[in-house]
Amino acid sequence: MAGKSTKKRTMACKICKKIYFDAACPQHGDSHMSDDWFGFLIINDTENSVIAKTSGIKESGRYAIKVR
Ligand SMILES: [Zn+2]
Repeated sequence: MAGKSTKKRTMACKICKKIYFDAACPQHGDSHMSDDWFGFLIINDTENSVIAKTSGIKESGRYAIKVR
C-alpha cells in the first residue's frame, strides 16, 4: 500500500487558459496543462463581460490571466 497523498492541483490550460482542479482540459488534453499560472478571472456572463470579449472567452468559468 502506497501512502502517497493525492494533492489536488490547480492547473491551467495554456491554450484556452481555463482553470481546472486536478483535471486536464477536455478540449486540449493534459499536455497543455501548467501549474505555473497567475491571475484569477471568473467569467459568469460572457455576453456582457468586456474581459470575456477582449480575451476571446466564449464560455463561462474560471480562467487564468497568464499561463506559462
Ligand atoms: Zn484548454
